[in-house]
Amino acid sequence: MSEQPILVVEHLETHFPIRRGLMRRAVGAVRAVDGVSFTVSKGRTLGIVGESGCGKTTVGRSILRLVEPTGGRVVFAGHDVRQTNGAALRGLRRRMQIVFQDPYGSLNPRMTVRAILEEGLVIHRLGDAAARRDRMHQALEHTGMAAAALDKYPHEFSGGQRQRIAIARALVLEPEFLVLDEPISALDVSIQAQVLNLLVDLRDRLGLTYLFISHDLSAVEHVADDVAVMYLGRIVEQAPAARLCAAPLHPYTLALFSAVPAVDPRRRRRRILLPGDVPSPANPPAGCRFHPRCPLAERVCREVDPPATRVDGHLVHCHVAARELERAGGDARVAGSRMADALASAPDIYSHSGAQSVAPAPAP
Ligand code: SF4
Repeated sequence: MSEQPILVVEHLETHFPIRRGLMRRAVGAVRAVDGVSFTVSKGRTLGIVGESGCGKTTVGRSILRLVEPTGGRVVFAGHDVRQTNGAALRGLRRRMQIVFQDPYGSLNPRMTVRAILEEGLVIHRLGDAAARRDRMHQALEHTGMAAAALDKYPHEFSGGQRQRIAIARALVLEPEFLVLDEPISALDVSIQAQVLNLLVDLRDRLGLTYLFISHDLSAVEHVADDVAVMYLGRIVEQAPAARLCAAPLHPYTLALFSAVPAVDPRRRRRRILLPGDVPSPANPPAGCRFHPRCPLAERVCREVDPPATRVDGHLVHCHVAARELERAGGDARVAGSRMADALASAPDIYSHSGAQSVAPAPAP
């Protein structure tokens, strides 16, 4: 499988102005995404995980320019997405599709499945009537739906079937890259695994590349080759999925993992409860953005934004983790276990008043 990056994101920023007064003057900005960088290689899946409101959905939408980024670069297949407009941007958008979280809200209830699937083909002027019909049949077949679905309306299907139709709508345009924005979180638990397996199968059969956005670490672990953990508009830790699961380093990642129910008793961890609420992205804390909630925060954390420390493809923004990595001679497993021990011995992290579990809240 090729390791060539198909997507390069550099210092991506998406700030939304806060406007007040009669003249609607900008008095500040919500920094939903505030300097995010990563690459995704062709045929691979990058999972982005974090609590609701951490900016992960905005990252996906900014890449496709469904919301306009305010800074940074997005390069897809050699094309600078932010510098592309008109017909060229339309062409890029055909190659980069999105599947939304809510299969109830994302399909127009007044349109038949045929009209829903054909809409994109018409907009992109792809094929004549016969070729469009063939493409629609093929897209439905890929998602395990019968051609008879074409003449029905969305309300005639279950949630899982609707999400399959939403996936078919993306596939009908024969894209190379899909943003999957919480694609299973609105579905019944009983069918989440089916849709997840379908997505993995489609990626492998069609050679697709995914950005898989989720608050569910176990889903990300199942699908993703690499995982980026976001907190308050920034990536705080990133690594190959197996490595991140085996040796999380950042205290926030450790808290996220502690909220994942594990069947294997050897993988069970006590749930870490973090104090306080997530600060406002309109006024992020100085130094490390996680410091008001971090049980390991030191003076330097309150003053200095932790730079990236990188060991063998494992990246972390944390002063204490960087020090532990250095002490462990770059061995992330040893450093990760020391971070976990340090957290476990911090006072009141398993229960105290005002604590918040980072157990993923249902996404909006
Ligand atoms: Fe916690 Fe300090 Fe690391 Fe931030 S830099 S995560 S406050 S230990």
